Amino acid sequence: MNALLSVSDKTGIVEFAQALHALGIGLLSTGGTAKLLAGQGLPVTEVAELTQWPEMLDGRVKTLHPKVHAGLLARRERPGHMAALKEHGIATIDLLVVNLYPFEATVAQAACTLAEAVENIDIGGPAMVRSAAKNWQHVGVLTDAAQYPSVLAELRANGTLSDPLRFALSVAAFNRIAQYDAAISHYLSSLRFEADRCIDDSAVPARMQFPGQSNAIFSKVQDLRYGENAHQQAALYRELHPAPGSLVTAEQLQGKELSYNNLADADAAWECVKSFDAAACVIVKHANPCGVALGLDAASAYRKALRTDPTSAFGGIIAFNCVVDDAAARQLGQQFAEVLLAPDFSAQALEIFKAKANLRLLRIALPVQTGQEGKERGRNALDARRIGSGLLLQTADNQELSPSALRVVTHKRPGPEALQDLLFAWKVAKYVKSNAIVFCKDGMTMGVGAGQMSRLDSARIASIKAQQAGLTLQGTAVASDAFFPFRDGLDVVLDAGASCVIQPGGSVRDQEVIDAANERGVAMVFSGLRHFRH
Ligand code: 5GP
Repeated sequence: MNALLSVSDKTGIVEFAQALHALGIGLLSTGGTAKLLAGQGLPVTEVAELTQWPEMLDGRVKTLHPKVHAGLLARRERPGHMAALKEHGIATIDLLVVNLYPFEATVAQAACTLAEAVENIDIGGPAMVRSAAKNWQHVGVLTDAAQYPSVLAELRANGTLSDPLRFALSVAAFNRIAQYDAAISHYLSSLRFEADRCIDDSAVPARMQFPGQSNAIFSKVQDLRYGENAHQQAALYRELHPAPGSLVTAEQLQGKELSYNNLADADAAWECVKSFDAAACVIVKHANPCGVALGLDAASAYRKALRTDPTSAFGGIIAFNCVVDDAAARQLGQQFAEVLLAPDFSAQALEIFKAKANLRLLRIALPVQTGQEGKERGRNALDARRIGSGLLLQTADNQELSPSALRVVTHKRPGPEALQDLLFAWKVAKYVKSNAIVFCKDGMTMGVGAGQMSRLDSARIASIKAQQAGLTLQGTAVASDAFFPFRDGLDVVLDAGASCVIQPGGSVRDQEVIDAANERGVAMVFSGLRHFRH
């Protein structure tokens, strides 16, 4: 029995080769691996000696030779195959141990150049792995050091490998090759060839391969205790190249393990809070904001956000876009929260949170989005959702509303403060599940109606919740994530006390709704943009 060993990651290879040798298995190997094994006193034949062909082109061609591939691919039960081997003096290779050039680790380094990336595309390794995995009935193929113990156990027990183990190894090998090739495709697709140099093209939306293809690849971070419910299994995956400032780049500073629901809600809170320039706090429950506010600092933003709906905020996820200092930490310490997220926490704040050992603290660097480039970069992100056996893909809803795009459609115009509140309400509405109705005043949500099948009900719920929280909606600005199809929805929000309205417009009955706003003497602006969120 012969084994060919050719590994970049040499972890455990010496011990494994020693064990193979002790079992009487012949060792073949490529340059670096052979040198290591020979240095440990193992009798190893270099592939170059076997093929009578030197490794060449800086290692680009080492094992691409019929003596290697015929030895791997020959069907042992076919007399014709075995006769061909004999005729050409080729021995079978029965075990292949290969791990590939570290392409993923190389491109994960920020300073990686295209040339370095390309040099780390393994050619001969995957070719051998495919040959061996295709011939799984006769060849065992190992692509990960974690497989060494189970292979040794069978070899020691039976002197050969069982069909189920060889088959499992073959499946793992093809999975590894698919993952490796996807990493190469993903990396190269993010580049644009310009003149004679390649530039990072993730900022250019026109290049996005859409809708034909999503080539983001994901690797598993961890299994989660369970999914949305205890009887569902779940795991967290992250993109090989996560966007800067995205939730998966967070560092957990303390607290219990994050759950599936924690992560989903934390993402909703973080995406919302990082959309504000001023200090902001967002409290999320069941993926909807139940309090959003701007302040001078974390403490004042939190106080305001909590007032919107203190009942729902219990056990919520609380996100900040500014440093959480000791003043904020003391206030937060009085509330039961599942997760706190912020770009940073002061040393005193961390000290205060130590008393709440279960509270999960996440630190995430805010993305540095300077100018147009930063904005464009975000636009490449794709939203994905499973449907039955299909996948829905869309570009993320990250269209910013520019104040100049607003169209005042009523006789009355909103004053500067009202306009501020309208823009704030509009920003929040984007993060509220449809149908969304959001009342705001002075940089604070005053009532949030979320996720109803009827816009009227969302409007009613928002005003009921404001009442329950002891807030008055008199003089508030209200945002509706989609147009009012009839005047009745508008009447409900105006009856509740709103004095100005922002909505996309675009209904066949826009005029009916505009007339109603004029009749009631309020200002209404059209954003021209809809923010459904399901
Ligand atoms: P070594 O350190 O033994 O010199 O090289 C081991 C690495 O070379 C492994 O990662 C293996 O996948 C890779 N390899 C084996 N044969 C070839 C080949 O013909 N061309 C290229 N580019 N890589 C190879």
